[in-house]
Amino acid sequence: MKTVSHWINGSQTTDKATNVGEIFNPATGKISGTVNFADKATVERAVHAASAAFDSWRHSSLTKRTQVLFAFRELVNKNKKKIAELITAEHGKVLSDAQGEVTRGLEVVEFACGIPHLLKGGFSEEVSTGVDVYSIRQPLGPVAIISPFNFPAMVPMWFFPIAIACGNTVIVKPSEKDPSAIMYIANLLKEAGLPDGVFNVVHGDKVAVDALLTHPGIKSISFVGSTAIAKYVYETGTKAGKRVQALGGAKNHMIVLPDADLELAADAAINAGFGSAGERCMAISAIIAVEPIADQLIEKIKVRALKIKTGDGTTNADMGPLVTKVHRDKVTSYINAGEKDGAKVVVDGRNVDVAGDGFWLGPTLFDHVKPEMSIYLEEIFGPVLSVIRVKTYDQALNLVNDHQYGNGTAIFTNDGGAARRFQNEVEVGMVGINVPIPVPMAYFSFGGWKNSLFGDSHAHGTEGVHFFTRGKVVTSRWLDPSHGGINLGFPQNT
Ligand code: NAD
Repeated sequence: MKTVSHWINGSQTTDKATNVGEIFNPATGKISGTVNFADKATVERAVHAASAAFDSWRHSSLTKRTQVLFAFRELVNKNKKKIAELITAEHGKVLSDAQGEVTRGLEVVEFACGIPHLLKGGFSEEVSTGVDVYSIRQPLGPVAIISPFNFPAMVPMWFFPIAIACGNTVIVKPSEKDPSAIMYIANLLKEAGLPDGVFNVVHGDKVAVDALLTHPGIKSISFVGSTAIAKYVYETGTKAGKRVQALGGAKNHMIVLPDADLELAADAAINAGFGSAGERCMAISAIIAVEPIADQLIEKIKVRALKIKTGDGTTNADMGPLVTKVHRDKVTSYINAGEKDGAKVVVDGRNVDVAGDGFWLGPTLFDHVKPEMSIYLEEIFGPVLSVIRVKTYDQALNLVNDHQYGNGTAIFTNDGGAARRFQNEVEVGMVGINVPIPVPMAYFSFGGWKNSLFGDSHAHGTEGVHFFTRGKVVTSRWLDPSHGGINLGFPQNT
């Protein structure tokens, strides 16, 4: 049985915790270890370490910071399989998917390696006689990152490479459900030459989160998780005077127009709906079939869904278990509710047959889902696809725009005009055109609209660099005796 503890000032803490959480292997249903939960005093120690390391790190050269990130990139690449194994053992997703998550996280590290270019300011010479103006961006200080269970490596990597590259120091509070991957990553950062105290990890629950949200030493909060907590984090963090970006839940729609390639659309629906057992914030959850193609499309999705092999993520299964028993039961209760509300169960994941006590649930496909049903209104976060039939493009668009969430969406069509109209009119942050999971590359920014994001900044890309820095504009004039004299008027440029 392993014990996972905090990472403060370059090493794992050894003191005994008063409060611990259990870590499960979702494929066996068995406890594999415990994780120490931070109390206020532990968070205080982490903030102290991050604060002490800040001055020296912010003054380290851009070359030095880039070199550390380059070395880290190499180490993560070399140890990708090991990190993936840690993820699968605690999250349950299949190994290839876990490796994919690490690869997507690495793209942000690669982006952050370009920090000397990204931090370049502007310069205007001679704005007034002998006066120059230039802009610079400076780090904030110690920053906190609070992440969800579904991407234990990638989501922290959306933020910390850029935060560190910009000269900040970091405290990560990962999900208590799968805390091991980030500890491995902490070791790799140290091996890459990152000074102690620049990167810290505190584990835990609301106690640790609240301590970070209200600590005056923490300058910003990057949160990813469910909408209720995102809203709470945004309100509490901003009230405490912090910069906050809080990414919340999702209900991603895929619109299939009558002219779409239905084979491609069915493949996409399966991959985006059931990959990672639907536990992705960009998973497709609602398919809007614009008639007359619904019957054909559903048949194609059904045939594919029935072939999906659910099982242990370390084997050749296509889809792993759900993360916990509680979550599996919650998703099952949504399926029960959908059936009770009158939706038609076309493929029933409740019947899945996998040996052992893992948190199993097979792919589920609903037809004739109506907009007022809970399976449509709420985020399920499991392997459940709901098909809604509509008659027109406008009805489909209105459904997406009326929904409380606006994280990702996709349209499947061969009509360029319709696709262009959709990308213009849809009220969602990330849009795919014949692409089911339009997760932006690291040099663009990731984030949703409406209840999928609280705050003004999306993750990574230019917005990430801006989030982790403050702008400063310097107006300078070097002494020249010809410019002397007293003038109490408001400065004007002549
Ligand atoms: P969660 O909200 O339960 O937990 C997220 C983090 O908040 C964890 O670190 C957790 O320990 C902490 N937390 C939980 N309850 C808290 C409380 N009462 N007070 C303070 N902190 C608390 O989310 P989860 O179940 O780990 O992750 C799944 C959710 O994350 C889904 O809703 C999914 O859509 C969302 N998500 C969103 C994105 C995005 O980019 N928008 C990406 C990944 C996941």
